[in-house]
Amino acid sequence: MIRTLLIANRGEIACRIMRTARRLGLRTVAVYSDADAGAQHVAQADEAHRIGPAPARDSYLKIDAILDAARGSGADAIHPGYGFLSENADFAEACATAGIVFVGPPASAIRAMGSKSASKALMATTGVPLVPGYHGADQDAATLAAAAQKIGFPVLIKASAGGGGRGMRIVTAPGALADEVAAAQREAQSAFGDPRILLEKYLQRPRHIEMQVFADQHGNCIHLFERDCSIQRRYQKVVEEAPAPGMSDARRASMGAAAVAAARAVGYVGAGTVEFIVPDASGPGGDDFFFMEMNTRLQVEHPVTEGITGLDLVEWQLRVADGAPLPLTQDRVTATGHAIEVRLYAEDPARGFLPQPGKLDHVRFPRGRDVRVDTGVRSGDTVPREYDPMIAKIVARGETRAAAIARLGRALAETEIAGVRTNRAFLAAIVGHPAFAAAALDTGFIERHRADLLPETASADTRILALATLARVLDERQRMVDAATATGDPHSPWAQATGWRLNREAWQECLWRDGEATVAVRAGFARDGFVLTLPDGAVRAAGSLRPDGRLTATLDGVHVSARALRHGDAMTVFDRGREHRLVIVDPLAAASAGEAAVGKLTAPMPGRVSAVRVAPGQAVERGQALIVVEAMKMEHTIAAPAAGVVGAVHFRVGDLVEEGAELLVIEPAGGAS
Ligand code: ADP
Ligand code: ADP
Ligand code: MG
Repeated sequence: MIRTLLIANRGEIACRIMRTARRLGLRTVAVYSDADAGAQHVAQADEAHRIGPAPARDSYLKIDAILDAARGSGADAIHPGYGFLSENADFAEACATAGIVFVGPPASAIRAMGSKSASKALMATTGVPLVPGYHGADQDAATLAAAAQKIGFPVLIKASAGGGGRGMRIVTAPGALADEVAAAQREAQSAFGDPRILLEKYLQRPRHIEMQVFADQHGNCIHLFERDCSIQRRYQKVVEEAPAPGMSDARRASMGAAAVAAARAVGYVGAGTVEFIVPDASGPGGDDFFFMEMNTRLQVEHPVTEGITGLDLVEWQLRVADGAPLPLTQDRVTATGHAIEVRLYAEDPARGFLPQPGKLDHVRFPRGRDVRVDTGVRSGDTVPREYDPMIAKIVARGETRAAAIARLGRALAETEIAGVRTNRAFLAAIVGHPAFAAAALDTGFIERHRADLLPETASADTRILALATLARVLDERQRMVDAATATGDPHSPWAQATGWRLNREAWQECLWRDGEATVAVRAGFARDGFVLTLPDGAVRAAGSLRPDGRLTATLDGVHVSARALRHGDAMTVFDRGREHRLVIVDPLAAASAGEAAVGKLTAPMPGRVSAVRVAPGQAVERGQALIVVEAMKMEHTIAAPAAGVVGAVHFRVGDLVEEGAELLVIEPAGGAS
């Protein structure tokens, strides 16, 4: 019997696993790195153990430290979540050796599915259909060239040991193959410690449809239907849903049978996902589906399966780990309705989806019977730079797909995050897109509709500016009243909200920075509120601002309920499903910051320097790569804005940099000084 469960993970998945564990009466143990000492998963556990410094390899990937924590806390089982050690066969084995239950498949099954090449070779023997391709051991250029020729271009190169959508390359013509293979092998070696690659036919407009499988220790193995994860960006899932639109019962049955066969072939136990790629149904070979890989763990998107089946997959995992048989047989598993999940990330779609780690000044999630939010953060928490910057998964259910879409759209409109940029509006644009409503899904969706999904960053409109300015003057007035109250002088003119009369001019100039632009709004104090003079004309505004930012306002007679939150000099306005961030400009401070950082190149995000391509004194061309900053899964290359000579380089490979840190200086070519 499992009594104490250690969760070897962090963030939303750690919190989610603990929720079920607690419901089942288990004691929960969290582990944390120094970056997570104040994290929710630590706060929610019955007990928490520090396992090391922030970098994952020194903490969440450290097998010894985690096993020490398990022994120290008396844990009899470890749930690895997803990512980190969840697909590490050595870890599963080390748990077994230590006499601790690993909540996952046997190490042998993890190993068998760990290499995309080896698992495909195995699948070929079980009759599970494969994408036309080459996954042999022979990796020399001539063999690969002949294989590619046979497959037909375009071909896709994948790292056998790869994952997370990394290291894939599309090759469209034979001439480019040799170079791309060499580059892919180098990359695979450095990223995964294994240079081996495989080739696949690159399918046009495919869908990603995966089957959830479950097996117990008694030889039972079933599937819990499919998930469609075709909405992807750079081979990574952004939106997932169940069931897959347009899936016929016949195809579901044959994909389910193939998935169960795949799991059985490796002696699988527990929760797993068999990923298939499905060619464009309108093309030749209409009903085909091909095995891609098996993920031997709980998947990020498991909540959509829970949404349609009403089951708790973590509960099943724990029961199976305890030796119990599967709670249901295949014919007893039923699904109703539709569920859709989106992954809310701290990232900036306007800047190539750069990760945006940092403090979450304000977090507010939607609620409701058909909305589920899985998260590991609250207002005031931090998205650390060291890990995946996912903030939450937002899942909506409905009787029909259309109902689920409507609820998810509403849920996204009600989601408020201030402090870091997020992909919220991008997700809302996907979910609200007519092509999404029409279920015209394939992995090229985001690229094809890019222009609709990534609108130009709009400047604040009249309504936003009015709300922000109203909030600003109301906030300042409140601060003065508070200050006067604090000094205890009830006769201070500031102690009266009517103290504005002191301002002889009876107006205040409010300067805002909106993106690159500076906007001036004049707030004139009227008896019943304000007259705001905006670039587009005047608006009569009145209202009240609660400490939680709830702004109840009347704009030219129209009643408006919004939220406006001030953090430092930033004001974020949430209104009708939109958010807009404006920065309060202090004219005095602005004047002295006149000399802009010409020639100084700064870090676009906090991260780690992964390459320095130039040295002081070196002449560089415009656009030449200078330095590479890496944060989580993203690499960002800083290029020379103009030709010049490298002055100082302030960082070395491996150094941590803050957002805005000056990385290096470029001096104009030939120019002295
Ligand atoms: P796939 O590997 O097929 O993309 P998922 O969509 O389930 O499957 O993504 C899981 C991957 O996401 C993990 O392997 C990991 O690299 C990454 N990941 C996302 N969030 C986290 C997190 N909080 N902790 C660790 N890894 C994470
Ligand atoms: P990972 O381990 O990174 O998850 P996968 O093999 O599961 O790698 O592939 C990830 C994604 O890449 C798929 O979901 C799909 O969008 C795309 N992809 C994979 N194989 C092919 C292919 N043969 N043709 C077209 N797209 C593919
Ligand atoms: Mg995959």
